[in-house]
Amino acid sequence: MIILGSKGRAKVIGMGKFFCPACNQVRNYQRVYVDKYFTVYWIPLFKVGKMGEYVQCQTCHNTYPPEAIQYRPPSEEERLHAAVLGDLRNGLPAHMVIRKVEERYGDHLLATRYVYNLLGNHPLECPTCGYLYHESAARCLNCGTALRPATHLLELQ
Ligand SMILES: [Zn+2]
Ligand SMILES: [Zn+2]
Repeated sequence: MIILGSKGRAKVIGMGKFFCPACNQVRNYQRVYVDKYFTVYWIPLFKVGKMGEYVQCQTCHNTYPPEAIQYRPPSEEERLHAAVLGDLRNGLPAHMVIRKVEERYGDHLLATRYVYNLLGNHPLECPTCGYLYHESAARCLNCGTALRPATHLLELQ
């Protein structure tokens, strides 16, 4: 809760919805203008800007600089993209990543296409198990064999 000083005035100059970092979801905000003699004490997540304006989440009452209302959290699609790419770059074979995507979205073909598209321009495979890997992988996670350029990836594309 904000404690407001007694000099000057705070004026609500706008309201709307924004993504509150503290609540981690979309909330209502009020945009407040504070004149220069006004004192505000708040939980210091962000400092109030020089202009004396801030936005305040109407749920948790944390305050942020006005730019906070421009912030757009990553979409589910962007999160998935980052997670899949992270797994592949960490050396997980494609079929394991596909299984994770499929568990979430329930479509094997779609999951396969999605993951294959993120394998990079030069996907690799294990000559022993046939597991597919992202181009940045070095060895097969399963058997430790050095990877070679993939040969059987084209079937699905
Ligand atoms: Zn909040
Ligand atoms: Zn292998």
